[in-house]
Amino acid sequence: MAKLPEAEFIWFNGKLIPWHEAKIHVLSHVVHYGSSFFEGMRCYETNQGAAIFRLDEHIDRLFDSCKIYRVEIPFSKQEIKEGILETIRTNKLSSCYVRPIVYRGYGLLSVDPLGCPVEVAIGAWNWGAYLGPDVLENGVDVCVSSWTRPAPNTHPALSKAGGNYLNSQLIRMEAIENGYSEGIALNTNGLISEGSGENIFLVQDNTVITNSLASSVLGGITRNSVMTLAREAGFEVVEQEIPREMLYIADEVFFAGSAVEVTPVRSIDRITIGSGTRGPVTKTIQELFFGITTGQTSDIHGWMTLVKS
Ligand code: PMP
Repeated sequence: MAKLPEAEFIWFNGKLIPWHEAKIHVLSHVVHYGSSFFEGMRCYETNQGAAIFRLDEHIDRLFDSCKIYRVEIPFSKQEIKEGILETIRTNKLSSCYVRPIVYRGYGLLSVDPLGCPVEVAIGAWNWGAYLGPDVLENGVDVCVSSWTRPAPNTHPALSKAGGNYLNSQLIRMEAIENGYSEGIALNTNGLISEGSGENIFLVQDNTVITNSLASSVLGGITRNSVMTLAREAGFEVVEQEIPREMLYIADEVFFAGSAVEVTPVRSIDRITIGSGTRGPVTKTIQELFFGITTGQTSDIHGWMTLVKS
């Protein structure tokens, strides 16, 4: 079985401790009821050294995810930011994936979480392409899932909560078992929501289209970056509800997320999308995106935070 590429230290409630000592009690609230809130971000090796993509926005979203569930994080945004930077520096990682997590710890084991302590950990480790090495160029084959995203009045999709990922696991397992790289879920209105861990875009007649935050999606930071870069490149960007069949007949479809970055989709349910390979608009957006993450183009938006002190 594949193993996490371990680093040496994990930031655990304010202190760096050895990787294997970062443990919690089996009767912690989070283990039973999914009460965790987390982020996933990438730190890139740029020509000026390691730099995290949109660190402040990820920290803001972590606090927002917690706020929805009445979780008070016992650290300030600045302390979490320093904790992330310190974790990467101490582990001497030049590029990595970073995973801060806030959870309800060991205390009472009632469904009511309010008596449990809130704890925070930050892990970071080396991580390559999420859906495989060639996919950024060749694209992925995906399916529409038989699993539906939870309705907005069930678990709110805008909170990146651990419990939401039970639904993501069903979507992803089904897709992989059926020979696809990823699944796209519909929402309870029967319209497109997102992949198990990424937002979705389509391109039609040079217009870049994604669905709105009311379609049971996470407010992706890559989604927001793609929308900004596409507008700056002169494309019209539209947020609208997307019926499933609009994907099949689109010129291009791509995923956007911290893990998948900007990944073309070449088929959905074995229907070829556009030319069946990465389309020109996707390529342009990838070049703009990776220009910033590699440090090759100037970071005019202030999206990169250098790790070195
Ligand atoms: N949707 C879901 C369900 C996700 O897990 C993620 C990954 N965080 C995304 C979308 C993309 O968000 P981001 O671009 O901020 O990584």
